[in-house]
Amino acid sequence: YTGKSGSQLLTDNLKKLHVKDYQSIPVVIGEGISVYDAIVTMFLEDIGTLFVVDKKSLLVGVLSRKDLLRASIGKQELSAIPVNIIMTRMPNITMCMKEDLLIDVANKLIEKQIDALPVVRETEQGFEVVGRITKTNITKAFLALANESL
Ligand code: ADP
Repeated sequence: YTGKSGSQLLTDNLKKLHVKDYQSIPVVIGEGISVYDAIVTMFLEDIGTLFVVDKKSLLVGVLSRKDLLRASIGKQELSAIPVNIIMTRMPNITMCMKEDLLIDVANKLIEKQIDALPVVRETEQGFEVVGRITKTNITKAFLALANESL
């Protein structure tokens, strides 16, 4: 018997969960893609956040559902507006690495009031997107913890 409380045990288990074991495949688009095509991609891929990359495949932006909705208000020609004028851009992107703890990702999602983070790999030139982690992935981890203690 370890003498640990229930919440200590839960915390111990939470600190064993890493991004790499719960991340999803990222969906990326080029920065020259139109807002119209980004909307189509979001529907076809069935995801809520798109990551925007430059020609070298380095992360330059993030696009959420509301970013696309906001751009759709009014009479602009959506197929003529490139996503790089409406996206949230570097260096204001909250990211994580695959070795990070899921609990740290959960903290960032709540603190920044966002739904998803790109999982990145740092190179000399910038950040490459290797994964995606969302509130859904966190919820799955939460369920996995619950099933572990059955
Ligand atoms: P929605 O806007 O559809 O509710 P989010 O809450 O995820 O979706 O996004 C809120 C705002 O934060 C958007 O403008 C979006 O571009 C931005 N955003 C989303 N994810 C990130 C991130 N990982 N880093 C920085 N900004 C982000």
